[in-house]
Amino acid sequence: MAKNTDSDTNRSTAGKQVADFLRMAQRILRCTIGESARVEFLEEITGLLLGFSECDAVELRLRLEDSCLRCEASSDVDQPLVIETAFRRNPSLNPLLGHGWNSDRVEDICRMVIENHHPASLSNFSRGGSFWTGDLDQDLPGSRTKEGAVESESSSTVMMYASLVAIPLIGANETIGLVMLKSRERHCFNAQEIELYENVIQTAGLAVVNQLAQASLRERIKELTCLYSLAQLAEYPNIQLEDLLQGIVELLPAAWQYPAITAARITLHGRSYTTANHREEGQRQSAEIFIHGKSRGRIEVVYTEAKPDLDEGPFLREERSLIDAVARQITLIAERRLAAEERTNLQDQLRHADRLATIGQLSAGVAHELNEPLGNILAFAQLAQKCPELSPQVVRDIEKIVVTSLHAREIVKKLMLFARQMPPQTTQVNLNVTIEEGLYFLESRCAKSGVVLERRFAPCLPTITADPSQLHQVLVNLVVNAIQAMPTGGTLKIVTSVDDRHVILTVEDDGMGMSQDILEQIFLPFFTTKDVNEGTGLGLAVVHGIVVSHGGRIDVESTPGKGTRFELRFPVAVQKDQKEPSCHDLG
Ligand code: ADP
Ligand code: MG
Repeated sequence: MAKNTDSDTNRSTAGKQVADFLRMAQRILRCTIGESARVEFLEEITGLLLGFSECDAVELRLRLEDSCLRCEASSDVDQPLVIETAFRRNPSLNPLLGHGWNSDRVEDICRMVIENHHPASLSNFSRGGSFWTGDLDQDLPGSRTKEGAVESESSSTVMMYASLVAIPLIGANETIGLVMLKSRERHCFNAQEIELYENVIQTAGLAVVNQLAQASLRERIKELTCLYSLAQLAEYPNIQLEDLLQGIVELLPAAWQYPAITAARITLHGRSYTTANHREEGQRQSAEIFIHGKSRGRIEVVYTEAKPDLDEGPFLREERSLIDAVARQITLIAERRLAAEERTNLQDQLRHADRLATIGQLSAGVAHELNEPLGNILAFAQLAQKCPELSPQVVRDIEKIVVTSLHAREIVKKLMLFARQMPPQTTQVNLNVTIEEGLYFLESRCAKSGVVLERRFAPCLPTITADPSQLHQVLVNLVVNAIQAMPTGGTLKIVTSVDDRHVILTVEDDGMGMSQDILEQIFLPFFTTKDVNEGTGLGLAVVHGIVVSHGGRIDVESTPGKGTRFELRFPVAVQKDQKEPSCHDLG
């Protein structure tokens, strides 16, 4: 048996050391198999290196686009500390050389390691680009403060150590950060160890790059899955907006980094949709929902447990773009729904207008056909009246024929008005004047029925092009309806006003009002809810015909038991010789 020499012992110790480092590299690689999020992965590696190196602290710095993620594990605390700081580029290395070191010497060293560029005068760099000192006081004099003393935010934790190694963390082909091993002991590392550490950290670098790529791929998949599910939900036939928003809010947690502690809420038009675990407090990310350019609500994602700061609070940059994308999708969905509703309303209106027009044509035809025989009946009845020696009974009967024929002619006239078969005799009209004239004949009727008439006329109205007698007819029909709607009396308001393009007449009562069902039919000729001798069902049909033939429109609001409000708009007359509308006051 060969006797063990010193050099044999050294060789076997060295061999064991290499094997240990190899095992460490493998453990780091194994960490990439799990699906841990970015921060947890860095914590895992840092913790492994701390245990393996037996140092007092290990810090892993990862350079992101414009910030630096720092994860520090130390023997003094259980949980690694993770912070994200702004990445400070070193404008030039020269200031370091000229007049000694600036206050953040260790920071400068870190930057040199990451940028793989250091002044020749600094001899503490290994061939692999690592900075290495066994005695900070000697190599970076003045960089170390007394233990526990805080010098500056970024360097305070480093300063209490004596041995420091900063090893570049190299990704696919560039330095992506560094790993710092820190020990209070002097001369904790030797050259051979540094080389072994460099190899392990190289493996760690590849593992980090791989893991980051996997993590962002996973984030992307989650993001796309979320948007895809959202699109599918939106296409669900006949789904109500409320159900859709509830569905969307339930989709959100799965797309965030920590689904188990993620809650979400969507608020739209004052209504909220939340996941069961939603709570008011906690770190949150939110995006506004705009509908037709106006903010109408927001989406909020809340973490129910505190998580370390990342790109945006504890949230990832990808999550910001996802929440914005979801907000945009909700905008699109809500706007599409509104457009569909408007389309349906418009179609309803068109159908209504079309129905009125058809009925109009029909009535016009009937009216024409009836006009002549009615005229004959009336004429012959009046002729018969002139016959001598009629018995009083016959005279009374013929009188009835005359009265009934006149009544029938009235109806025919109204039908023709409704069907716009009677062309308006238009002049320039001041609505205040016409309404005042019309009310003159209605006041006594109001008073008799216990109706208080309130007038509020805009003092200065532009003229409209209208047929005054038709406007009288409109007023009479509306006022008579209002009086009939207030059988025990009430208040009738007649208001005129003006906007930039219309003169507006409002007739408002506080009578019985109408149900939605009635409201939808009031302009149909012969539609009435009144007894035979109270109503013909032609009043509002005529009002409609007249207003439309004047290029105007009618809006009605009615609440059963509260009252009814008719608003009639007539276009302001365009005057050739006058840009400003003319202004007549009453009286
Ligand atoms: P008529 O008055 O002959 O019934 P109209 O065309 O004038 O016919 O009115 C149609 C129907 O509209 C009425 O029967 C009534 O039900 C309803 N209506 C009209 N105006 C009012 C009002 N101011 N308040 C309540 N209901 C009204
Ligand atoms: Mg009526």
